Amino acid sequence: MNDNILVIGAGPAGLAAAYELAKNGKKVTVLEKENQVGGISKTIVHDGYRFDIGGHRFFTKSDRVNTLWNEVLGEEFLTRPRCSHIFFKKKFFNYPLKASNVVRNLGVYLCIKVFLSYLSSRLKPYQKEDNFEEWVSNRFGKELYRMFFKTYTEKVWGIPCNSIDAQWAAQRIKGLSFLTAVKNALFTNNSGKIKTLITKFNYPKFGPGQMYEAIAKKIEEMGGKVVLNSRVVKLEEKDGCLISATDEKGEKYGFDYLISSMPIDELVVLMDSFPEEVKDAARGLEYRSLLTVNLVFSYKIPLEDTWLYIHEPDVHLGRIQVFHNWSPYLVPDNETSSLGLEYFCYENDHLWSMKDNDLIKLGKDEISRLGLADEQKVMDAFVVRTRKTYPMYSNDFKKRMSLIRESLKKIVNIQPIGRYGMFKYNNMDHSILTGIYAAENILGSNHDVWQINTEPEYHEEQGIGDRTNEK
Ligand SMILES: Cc1cc2nc3c(=O)[nH]c(=O)nc-3n(C[C@H](O)[C@H](O)[C@H](O)COP(=O)(O)OP(=O)(O)OC[C@H]3O[C@@H](n4cnc5c(N)ncnc54)[C@H](O)[C@@H]3O)c2cc1C
Repeated sequence: MNDNILVIGAGPAGLAAAYELAKNGKKVTVLEKENQVGGISKTIVHDGYRFDIGGHRFFTKSDRVNTLWNEVLGEEFLTRPRCSHIFFKKKFFNYPLKASNVVRNLGVYLCIKVFLSYLSSRLKPYQKEDNFEEWVSNRFGKELYRMFFKTYTEKVWGIPCNSIDAQWAAQRIKGLSFLTAVKNALFTNNSGKIKTLITKFNYPKFGPGQMYEAIAKKIEEMGGKVVLNSRVVKLEEKDGCLISATDEKGEKYGFDYLISSMPIDELVVLMDSFPEEVKDAARGLEYRSLLTVNLVFSYKIPLEDTWLYIHEPDVHLGRIQVFHNWSPYLVPDNETSSLGLEYFCYENDHLWSMKDNDLIKLGKDEISRLGLADEQKVMDAFVVRTRKTYPMYSNDFKKRMSLIRESLKKIVNIQPIGRYGMFKYNNMDHSILTGIYAAENILGSNHDVWQINTEPEYHEEQGIGDRTNEK
């Protein structure tokens, strides 16, 4: 009997699962710890301005996900052109690189230096490629490594490139070399393959949150429940089955089947029957977190980008979202504008622990030092701290996950789904697909949900520098 289903988390994965189940007549309840739905893909509304946690492009190769998105929002989608640059040495470098733009920005002298450094790396490569720095330098030369790989990668992951395993670089930058980068810079890629870049994407008029609010509404219209401010803190097991979840207000929810999109490490420690060794494996999973300093300006910032990668080494700032270029509906008028300044950090590190006012000061100072906006014209500002935004594929994460998965298999009525639920570097569409497949499994299918998001060519980060798979 799998009639009464509980879903933990009202992010894209949990909502997609609940939507499919409600559509198929199942009794479904979603418990969400926050006071709004959408998870990391929510849209925060602040005095009429709308902010993403990082911009969220809607792009998928999956017909199932496309169908769901169109079924829910249809006409409300805008098609946006991708426009993003690398900002380095106070210059805008096209991304992907374009030869004329690189030569103009770097000058002929530096370009020759880049080429010579490439030749020198080919003639005298590092004999052992143990780390990211060595692996990239051997293929691109030290100059190009320093300009386009080192700073941004270190900002995103918070560790020196010479401490990142070479294997990791090999996986992420696979298929791109100095010569292909030069070829791509000289000639437009007309192959139509995703491998290089997605040039257009969909975006809901009012931000990604609009999608997830609409799905939640449909779930409720079909008889399901979405309970906000309900953080699951306890799970009860009986004879190899989970039977109830209790939230921090003490509300207890019985169920036949559980779908969980809460971070897997937090789930595992709630499982009474799991051995301490497995709980320790879960505790050792690492994440990168994200701080966004959101600024509202009294003028329309004349940037053409949807987002900008900041490669300048002397600022902490990693990426900037220009919200009015994502959608004009994210700002209430045409005279003002808003930016999201992204700082990658570890929970509780120096940046994370700074007071909001100091972070705002830092953001204003950095954006003005870069010459990208006038800090005097900031009308409003606020900080959003988001824990656990990037699952970190450290050297031992596979071993940890395999222990966890073995233990989870022994519980017959649970499926973990989603980016944090499965500790997988998912985009929204992958997460949604895990939700759809988990729901279909309850309805009688036999999908291997762990197979979702295993195609390396899908990821866009194969461009120069480490873009993270979202962009
Ligand atoms: C900066 C950034 C930019 C991104 N850009 C893109 C993009 O352009 N395109 C794209 O497709 N993807 C993008 N992503 C990825 C996208 O955000 C995620 O893939 C997606 O949100 C994952 O959905 P999810 O449901 O798996 O997890 P989440 O969005 O994290 O949802 C999980 C939900 O579970 C809730 N929860 C957790 N613990 C509990 C608990 N104990 N009890 C109850 N509820 C709980 C959380 O509050 C949350 O609402 C981006 C991610 C980041 C960080």
